[in-house]
Amino acid sequence: MLLKLYNTLSREIEDFKPNSEKEVTLYTCGPTVYNYAHIGNFRAYVFADILKRTLFYNGFNVKHVMNITDIDDKTIRDSIKEGKNLKEFTEFYTKAFYEDRDSLEIMPAGIYTKATDFIPQMVKMIEKLISNGYAYKGEDGSVYFDIRKYKEYGKLSRFKLSDLKENADGRLKKDEYEKENAQDFALWKAWDENDGEVFWETALGKGRPGWHIECSAMSVEELGDSIDIHTGGVDLIFPHHENEIAQSECATGKEFVKYWMHNEHLLVDNKKMSKSLGNYYSLRDLEKINVSPLGFRYWLLTADYRSPINFTIETLQGAETALKRLYEAYNELEDGGIADATYTQEFKNYINDDLGTPKALALMWKLLKDENVASATKKATLLDFNKVFGLGIDKEKIEIEIPDEVVKLAQDREYARSQKDFALSDILRAKIEAHGYIVKDTDKGQKISKI
Ligand SMILES: [Zn+2]
Repeated sequence: MLLKLYNTLSREIEDFKPNSEKEVTLYTCGPTVYNYAHIGNFRAYVFADILKRTLFYNGFNVKHVMNITDIDDKTIRDSIKEGKNLKEFTEFYTKAFYEDRDSLEIMPAGIYTKATDFIPQMVKMIEKLISNGYAYKGEDGSVYFDIRKYKEYGKLSRFKLSDLKENADGRLKKDEYEKENAQDFALWKAWDENDGEVFWETALGKGRPGWHIECSAMSVEELGDSIDIHTGGVDLIFPHHENEIAQSECATGKEFVKYWMHNEHLLVDNKKMSKSLGNYYSLRDLEKINVSPLGFRYWLLTADYRSPINFTIETLQGAETALKRLYEAYNELEDGGIADATYTQEFKNYINDDLGTPKALALMWKLLKDENVASATKKATLLDFNKVFGLGIDKEKIEIEIPDEVVKLAQDREYARSQKDFALSDILRAKIEAHGYIVKDTDKGQKISKI
């Protein structure tokens, strides 16, 4: 089955046809490194990871770029608050982001671009927009994009220029805003005292870039004028992605992105996560409720990426239990098989249907219960599925934890067997079973698992 993906631009599921068969170009809006990323942010990165793994599963090469926003309103505000210079402050949270990424089995993007490394490219793009009439310098010295000049403004978010209020002639210097107050937005922000030490002296004057231009400039620089897929959370559709399209297409004259893909919100107790409501979780907070990063990842896969998902402690812990059961089942299986063709085909049908992970997970459990499939075949098939799931089942670290007393009994049993004392060996086996564990003798010695 051909890969089908939902394109926010058309609001339809489309056959995926990349610009070049050789390599898919993929851009993901990355974190703003002013704090630990929260679990809602990670829903977006796990979604992009599943997409990328699905592309690999279909035999595509992928060139993936993710930006690190290390300069914007929030990074400046909070670095000043903490009395740190911007670089030192953002490097700390960039490092934390990479650690969290690894604990979630998210494959690293091939290229990470830090916004502060691309100031010349941003300036160049803004100069182009001024020269072809889409941008202008305001009396405050900042440069703004003239949204009325770009007739297609709103094509992603279905925002209508004609709905702009008659008096909406103001300009926005803020990075984030709602559709209701759409106005000309800042490409380059002239320095003001809130920026402190943070500024660049450029042909556009003393100042810093707006948030939206960062992604446009970095995507064009690293991946070319037109790319295949751009991902992010639904909250980025407006204004961020709408503005990215406006800037890029007016600067290059070409279609910026062929497929726009967005994941839905992660809610906590059916509410939007926010610090003021006290329902705000970073990945690190999940440890306190005994949920591992991969338990969280498993939970995300149980929902369609285009549906909102509601976080409750109970459902998260349920996912953690299911993941542990999966590890235990995997540890029972034998080596040396090859993946089952019927199951892998069905699996591909599900994931190629706009990343249908809930059905693919259900298929995995069906496989594990299927008595007509040999143990070694199950293991090979599971490992094949895991290329997309990324649940860490192939990692040493997932060896189940066996209590010390059971380990001691097993060691005694091994000794008894080496002495050919089979009567004692059987007694020890019964004792192990009384603890809820079963012992099997294999070529590589004893194997202990839960009953
Ligand atoms: Zn972006």
